Amino acid sequence: MAQFKNYINGKWVEARSGEEFERKNPATGKLIGTYAKSDARDVDDAVQAAKAAFAKWRLYPAPKRGEILYRLGSLLAENKDRLAREMTEEMGKVLTEAGGDVQEGIDMCFYMAGEGRRQWGQTTPSELPNKWNMSTRKPLGVVGMITPWNFPMAIPTWKIMPALITGNTVVFKPASFVPRSAVRLVELFEEAGLPEGVINLVLGGGDPVGTTLMKHPDVALISFTGSTDVGREVSIEAAKSMKHVSLELGGKNAVIVMDDADLDLAVDGILWSAFGTSGQRCTAASRVIAHRGIQSELVERLAARAAAMRLGDGLDSSTDVGPLVSGGQLERVHSYIGVGKGEGADLVVGGAIAREGALEKGFYHQPTIFNNVKHTMRIAQEEIFGPVVSVIPVDTLDEAIAVSNGVQYGLSASIFTANLNNAFRAMQDIYTGILYVNAGTTGAEIHLPFGGTKATGNGHREAGQAGLDVFTEWQSIYVDYSGKLQRAQID
Ligand code: NAD
Repeated sequence: MAQFKNYINGKWVEARSGEEFERKNPATGKLIGTYAKSDARDVDDAVQAAKAAFAKWRLYPAPKRGEILYRLGSLLAENKDRLAREMTEEMGKVLTEAGGDVQEGIDMCFYMAGEGRRQWGQTTPSELPNKWNMSTRKPLGVVGMITPWNFPMAIPTWKIMPALITGNTVVFKPASFVPRSAVRLVELFEEAGLPEGVINLVLGGGDPVGTTLMKHPDVALISFTGSTDVGREVSIEAAKSMKHVSLELGGKNAVIVMDDADLDLAVDGILWSAFGTSGQRCTAASRVIAHRGIQSELVERLAARAAAMRLGDGLDSSTDVGPLVSGGQLERVHSYIGVGKGEGADLVVGGAIAREGALEKGFYHQPTIFNNVKHTMRIAQEEIFGPVVSVIPVDTLDEAIAVSNGVQYGLSASIFTANLNNAFRAMQDIYTGILYVNAGTTGAEIHLPFGGTKATGNGHREAGQAGLDVFTEWQSIYVDYSGKLQRAQID
């Protein structure tokens, strides 16, 4: 049986407790391996290693850091198929999507490697003679990363690459459903020649590993992606020690379909956004806001296509929808079927846990569509994080936009329309961090800012140039070469 360890100060080590936990394939129930079950002592070891490494890494020339990231990007590309297969076994998403997840990691390596030769600051005139003004980025120190299970490679790389290229050192705590993907990423860092202590991996549960990390006095920043409830706890805890916190949290993303939309395109976009990764994407479409003029036809077409989707092991190329990540997640998602029925929504297709034949050993839920949902219902307000979508009818674009904005979250939204005016109204008035026109709610590219408004986060963005802001502090530098005291705003 494969055994996976922590990586601390350049060495693979068991948890101090000597204890382990297991992870099983959610499609088959087969044991994948055993993993170090860490506690506060392991976190402290990792933080101390990262703290010691920071002294050198911050001075390691950024273009040289970039060379390591380039090597890592190449290694990820060489190993893409294996990493994707292992990811599918570990958390269930179908193989093509797992490949896309690894590809995001590759893209982020190459993009951030280039930042080794950019990381531009500003030079600007001074209000005084013989004086030089400029600004430059500085790393924060030890950064703690707490990540979810739904993008095992993409989300950690979105955090780790900008952190490293700007000179920070890292303690990485992945979700305990996907520890093997995290181990594989760190193995490739080792092969790429990252100096010891610069990245440290601590496996284990949110409590105690995540909780210890977010309280640790030597951690300067917690970069967290996960649920809004846990994100709130992280934020409160970090405030006590004035840590920086970057939060990427839940979503309740909507697709608006206007009566002038290309319905073939809308159907494709909705199915991909709602049922890809079995609905377990933070950007998954979980609401369809349908103009009454096309509601019946749209729902009919969506239902026919959803009913024909094949559930199964994501490794099987004929599978459309894989299992959910765990039994607990399956129960949670399924409980919303009862909630929707109880609220009076019309169940059009799906609604059941799938157990027939080979599905018996996995955590499968049928793709599900509710129709005639009122936007105040719980199924239209709460993040379900599974293959369940609610169709909410509206009469006008104004109403559609109000419904789209009428949730606590603000991650992604989309509009299908052939009318330019509708598209620009949506771009102006929808208040999400990401907006698509004539595409579903998923499909972010790594060189643009990623994140959301309201309860989806705390105002930061990952990826793109914006991602650098999370992992750096600006320093403004004034060099006076006049040889005398010059007083700004006075002389
Ligand atoms: P989660 O909040 O349960 O866990 C996220 C991480 O936090 C895991 O590593 C977990 O072990 C750790 N954790 C749990 N309790 C903790 C605690 N008390 N203190 C510190 N750490 C703790 O989320 P999840 O189930 O892994 O992921 C699903 C959620 O993530 C969904 O809400 C989804 O929308 C969100 N998500 C958001 C984005 C985004 O970019 N906005 C991306 C992916 C997922």
